[in-house]
Amino acid sequence: MKRRFPMEEENNGRYCPQCGQRVPRTYRGETCPACEEEELYQKVKNYIQTHDVTAMDVADEFGIPLAQVKDWIENGYFVYRKDQWY
Ligand SMILES: [Zn+2]
Repeated sequence: MKRRFPMEEENNGRYCPQCGQRVPRTYRGETCPACEEEELYQKVKNYIQTHDVTAMDVADEFGIPLAQVKDWIENGYFVYRKDQWY
């Protein structure tokens, strides 16, 4: 993945350092929402591959809604002991 540093600034916004998409200046995250989710997903994926956890554990560990974790699972993002997730 291409990275652009440092973050570019413009009058009415700035750009996501990951994908270059413009994000509102007021947006607090470092990267745009899409990249944040991608990054979070990668962390979660790595986490569940290296830990013996349930969907609830993942939600707690990363502070994300259980519904989102389950949504990822239902969409096939994770292939991991499906019987343990519910
Ligand atoms: Zn981005």
